[in-house]
Amino acid sequence: MPSLTGIERVLPFLLATALACERDGPTNPATVRPDQSAQFAISDGAHAGGNAHFYFLPPLVAPPKYAGVFDPTVHPIVEVAAIAAGAIVGSPLVSFTTTTASGSERVRVDTTDELYIVNWHTKPYGDRSGLYRISVKLGTTVLGYVDVSLGRTPATLGAGSRGEDVAWKGGSIPIKFRIEKGAIPPAKPVWKFTILGAISQITADYLGGFDAAARFMRAQIDTLNSRFNTPNVFAGEFRFSLDSIYVFAGCRFTCMGWPEIARPHLGFDYRYIVDWQGPGGWYGEYDVVFLSWPLSQITTPGATDAIVHEFGHARGAIDTYAIKADGQFNPVNGASYHPGRSIMDYPYGETVWDQHSINLINRSADVVNAPPTYITEAFPSLIGIVVDDEAGVRQANATITLYPVPWFQNRVDPNPRFVVYSNTQGEYVFSQNPFDPGTLGSPWLMSYPNYLVVARAGTLSGYGWMPITDVQNTWFSNPTAPYRLRITVRPTP
Ligand SMILES: [Zn+2]
Repeated sequence: MPSLTGIERVLPFLLATALACERDGPTNPATVRPDQSAQFAISDGAHAGGNAHFYFLPPLVAPPKYAGVFDPTVHPIVEVAAIAAGAIVGSPLVSFTTTTASGSERVRVDTTDELYIVNWHTKPYGDRSGLYRISVKLGTTVLGYVDVSLGRTPATLGAGSRGEDVAWKGGSIPIKFRIEKGAIPPAKPVWKFTILGAISQITADYLGGFDAAARFMRAQIDTLNSRFNTPNVFAGEFRFSLDSIYVFAGCRFTCMGWPEIARPHLGFDYRYIVDWQGPGGWYGEYDVVFLSWPLSQITTPGATDAIVHEFGHARGAIDTYAIKADGQFNPVNGASYHPGRSIMDYPYGETVWDQHSINLINRSADVVNAPPTYITEAFPSLIGIVVDDEAGVRQANATITLYPVPWFQNRVDPNPRFVVYSNTQGEYVFSQNPFDPGTLGSPWLMSYPNYLVVARAGTLSGYGWMPITDVQNTWFSNPTAPYRLRITVRPTP
């Protein structure tokens, strides 16, 4: 793709300063006062935003509500480990499976009650102080866990499971739990990208030499991976891999050019350049992300936030801030349009991805240098506008005027791009894509990224916005669905 934005290159400069279980079965549990000193934790479908298809069951916890389908076919592993300060210490003290051990210390399935059960004989641990974590796993995936204390007699089952702790007499705790279909989501494809790192001598020296600079850049790429692997966002698992780093001479004062940008990086998908000066941004034609940041602020989170945004571009996302319109720069009706929070709108301190960016990045998958059709063809086959009144009556022969929102200008152009009329069904259908996909020289090869659409029907009027994000998101959710912007006209005040 061509060089997309001049503005992109100065953005980091502009924002740098503005930022930033003896017997099976339990004796009856009796409640005891919560142990205020203990930090019990629990994670399952009923607690702490845990796996929605995994539930601990009484007596460990109060009976949970669940809606899924019980899965009797899996082979869970139950591990007990010591914990300190909320974290597991050392290897599991004991591990129960569906095949090893016998009797109550084997994990069994009860298809009648739709549960799995194993009894943990705690006697060997009873005189220990401290806390234990019971974890249930499938393979290496932890489905959930619950903390218990054997630090006194009786044992305490914790985790605020009933709003208070539950005391346990005797030496055996029945660990019962429910696993449903879907507890292990289908594996995501791995999308791996190799990166060659380049850092200027001055910047590396400032950071304390090559090793420190390399640690800095690796930490940035760790953050990059973490932002791209936010749970339940993308369809693939991202692995950006900073495979090699070198120091380049760079310029002490003012450079006449940045040869590192155009230098080939054979064998790597991307080059990631760090310098204290220069034209920062994403260089689509070279597959380069350039972090240009003042030395005094280069270790602040903003610098890393910026490159997450740039790698968003590298994977296909547009600048969502480039489609905004500020009411004070809208001479048509003073209305504003804002696309909502996103790393691709304003990355600083932001961890959220908007749906349009998610869709484009998923579409790019693991392809580097995807042909521009990944975005120019992502349109519904029908793009239209319907005009109705407050009673929902379609308005025939309404005048529909489209005012363009130019890329990156945060304004509405008062010169109409289209003036069209609704048909007898109160609808207008574009015969040609109003975003003109394939327009050379325009960002992401689209003439405009947004339109202010004003409709008039007699004395009634109304308006709406037709941003490329909404139009393309319609196609992404269903490639055969039409896009129709609905504008409701009302009496003009
Ligand atoms: Zn950008």
